[in-house]
Amino acid sequence: MEKDSFYKKGLRKKMVEVLRQNEELDPRVLDVMEELPRHYFVDTAFTEKVYSEGPFPIGSGQTISSPYTVAYQSTLLKVESRQKILEIGTGSGYQAAVLSKLGARVYTLERHEPLFKKASSLLKELELTVRCYHRDGFKGLPEMAPFDGILVTAGATEIPEKLKMQLREGGRLVIPVGIKRTQQMLVVTRLGPDDFRVEKYAHFRFVPFLKGKA
Ligand code: SAH
Repeated sequence: MEKDSFYKKGLRKKMVEVLRQNEELDPRVLDVMEELPRHYFVDTAFTEKVYSEGPFPIGSGQTISSPYTVAYQSTLLKVESRQKILEIGTGSGYQAAVLSKLGARVYTLERHEPLFKKASSLLKELELTVRCYHRDGFKGLPEMAPFDGILVTAGATEIPEKLKMQLREGGRLVIPVGIKRTQQMLVVTRLGPDDFRVEKYAHFRFVPFLKGKA
């Protein structure tokens, strides 16, 4: 973990200033992103690059989502303090850390063991209480359900039934879905036991949501 510095704080401030021009992004999320050292979550070779827009490699063929994507998904989730949130696709742990700093009780699942191990020890080192699991995200985390929010950070081809059913009434599932190269961001709100509303948002390109542990 490369130490934070005045210089890196400056890079972070610039990164967030650009995001602040998007009025749809929640300022509370952007405040957290300005405070949280994003470079802790990537290899030191990417320390500077990670503050510019775009995804970056984190090992196991995966990427940390771009700053805009993290801000966008976190905004759509509408996190309130103390809410129980499930993230699918821990990756670097950055998105989970943002949710935790927003005051949520965060559970996160990752199918790649090396990423799971790295992220869970880093989050501990940062003294963030995020519960990490080496699991297949398609199954969710039934023993901890229901959740106020579920955030999928990999591109799905459909809305997994099991995830919908782990939302509490009023809960939101934010998930990028598409069958081609890009995915459309969907917000699925649970209105009743078997009543769901689906809202459609912008298009993104995520690494694929794959079945089973790696
Ligand atoms: N939220 C991450 C983004 C990582 S990219 C971050 O902030 O860095 C998406 C991640 O989803 C990858 O690490 C990938 O391994 C993971 N993933 C894909 N399919 C999965 C599944 N079925 N269960 C758990 N994790 C999965």
